[in-house]
Formats: sequence, structure tokens, C-alpha cells
Amino acid sequence: MKLPPLVEPADGLSVEEVRRYSRHLIIPDVAMDGQKRLKNAKVLCVGAGGLGSPALMYLAAAGVGTLGIVEFDTVDESNLQRQIIHGQSDVGRSKAESARDSVREINPLVNVVLHEERLDSSNVMELFAQYDLIVDGTDNFATRYLVNDACVLLNKPYVWGSIYRFDGQASVFWSEYGPCYRCLYPEPPPPGMVPSCAEGGVLGVLCASIGSIQVTEAIKVLTGVGESLVGRLMIYDALEMSYRTVKVRKDPECAVCGKNPTVTELIDYEAFCGAVSEEAQEAVKDSTITPRTLKAWIDEGQTLEIIDVREPAEYEIVNIEQATLIPKNEFLMGDALTKLPQDKKIVLHCKSGVRSAEVLALVKAAGFTDAVHLGGGIVSWVNQIEPSKPIY
Ligand SMILES: [Zn+2]
Repeated sequence: MKLPPLVEPADGLSVEEVRRYSRHLIIPDVAMDGQKRLKNAKVLCVGAGGLGSPALMYLAAAGVGTLGIVEFDTVDESNLQRQIIHGQSDVGRSKAESARDSVREINPLVNVVLHEERLDSSNVMELFAQYDLIVDGTDNFATRYLVNDACVLLNKPYVWGSIYRFDGQASVFWSEYGPCYRCLYPEPPPPGMVPSCAEGGVLGVLCASIGSIQVTEAIKVLTGVGESLVGRLMIYDALEMSYRTVKVRKDPECAVCGKNPTVTELIDYEAFCGAVSEEAQEAVKDSTITPRTLKAWIDEGQTLEIIDVREPAEYEIVNIEQATLIPKNEFLMGDALTKLPQDKKIVLHCKSGVRSAEVLALVKAAGFTDAVHLGGGIVSWVNQIEPSKPIY
């Protein structure tokens, strides 16, 4: 869809700016006018992680005048495989500050504004109102719906991207001209159904493929060049090496941008998306143990069947010595339940306690009423009991 430029041009470019941006200036469709619009643009990047890394670096290099960064996390070693805005010496630092330093190194003319807070219903409207365009680099459904609804309510365009293993998607949502995220995905997936990158993994370079689409679209919307992805969903498959786009229509019944919206203000997004299902929440009540309790049970020689419900690749990285691997899927298919011993207490665990909670609900429903799960999963176990082992 061809759209008018989002941002008015700045008054002019300095000699330094002309030199720096000369390869843009000699593209007829960008030229002085487009570069002056980029200079005047205020773009907010939600997250300085996998997608935020390439997005911020290229937005900075392109000469976007003001770049906001919303990020509350710190740099972890496991981020460096894909979050290339951070380096080895940044491990342990604030991601926002680390990202700001990289942006300054790429382009000192960019005004970087840090928002070191968790984006939520209480701050999103005030934050977004200060920017022309939002780049969504978040990795969880609650924040995606929050970003979408805030953008619809403020009538702001945003560039969305998502990545998982070898697959990526991207689009531009702008309810004034086309569909929003809810038109495409009216309901979040059931809790536990769609694994995050932390659970399922992601090919690091996929961030560059999708992040670069996001920046391309951001530049097009800001300057008004080309046909934007508004009304289209880009689907990238790295294994096939294919990009295809599908049309996405505005849903007249959409809860937030439709004719009779039911969402007219921000809602409780954590509750809307749910971290775990109601069955799992019920199952873990009085059936969650700590790593110290499990360690004590093992040391006392209790008859336990410790079952690791993660995937084989995760088990290979780190495991609890006494645990047997039975991936969650085998419980969903039903075959795992017949393998469970009747005469031992069943202790389930996964990486962080979400998948094991879902499995606990199934196991209890199958009659193993004294089964328990390890709260916080193997991450807590390693932190508290075996700190020399790796976590991922
Ligand atoms: Zn909508």
C-alpha cells in the first residue's frame, strides 16, 4: 500500500550529515527530502534483543534523528548468539545502556532516549505518544497485544516482527490504513501451546533477516517511499529460503479496530494471554516443590521418579542426574502416561516450570494425585543446587 510520508522534513542537513548520508541522498526516491524526514523522525524500539539489535543499528546508521529504547533487562551470555548490538564486555550490563553505546558508535548524530522500564498498561500510552513510529521487537504475546492496542488507540503505525527457529514473520500494522495485529490474530494461542525462543530456540541470523525487513518498512513509512507492508504479512522460511506475502484484511469485527470495538482502553494483558492454563494453575496448587526439597528427598533416598519433560536437545545441555527424559509431547499424545510407575512419587520438571505445570495437570488427571513439579524448573535447580552446571 502506497502511503503519504509520516514525518515532515527537517529544515536542512549539515555538511557532516550530507557527507555521512551521501549514499542515501543520491537515490532519487530518498534524496534530500527523504533524509530530512528521517532526521526529523522519532522511532521507539520496544526491546533491544534479537530483533531490536539489527533494528536499532540500521535505524541509527540510516540517520533516524531520535531513537527510543524500551528495555529493562541485562545482557546475558546466551544473548550474544543473536543480539549483535551487545558484545562480550557488555555481559551483565543494562541492555538499554549497552545498546545506546553501540548506537552512538555507529552514529553519534542520533539522539538516543532510554526508557529502562518494563512496558505495561501504566506507561505505554505516555511513552508511545512521544514517538512517530514503533518497532516491536518483543517475544511474548502479552506485550504484543499491549503494543497493538496502544498503537490503535493512539493511531500510530508500528512495524511488527516475530521469529522462531527457522521461521519469521513481519508486517506493518496501522489501523488508519489497514488491519491491526488483532485482525490477524484475534486471540492469543492457549498458554503453553506456542514455545518461546527461550524454550524452542532460534537461528541467530534469523534476527537479521526479519529485523532488516522491519527497518526497511520503518524507513518507507517515515519517508513515504514504495509500497508498505500494511495489509500484507511477510512469511520467511530460512530452510526453504523463501519469502512470501499473504494479504491480511481489516476485520470489521476486530475487538480493537473494528466498527464496534469492545476494547476501548488498555486491558490486563498478562491475564488475557495467561502464562499457564487454568488446569495447570489448579494442578500446581500445593504440588510445587523447591529445588532444596527435591535435593533433600533425593538425599533421604525417597522412592522418586524424576521426569524431565523438556526436549532431548535441552536434556543434552544440562540435566538432573536422576531424571528420566519424557518430552511433554509424549504426554500430550497420551503414550507417556502408561510408562509411569505406580509405586513411586512422580516429580516433574522442565526448564522454568511452565511445561511441567501443564504436564502435571495431565498426570494428576490420570490418577497420579500425589505427583508434584519443580517450581522454577532446572534453571532454579542449577542456581540453588548445582551452580557449576550451565543454564541456557
Ligand atoms: Zn484490528
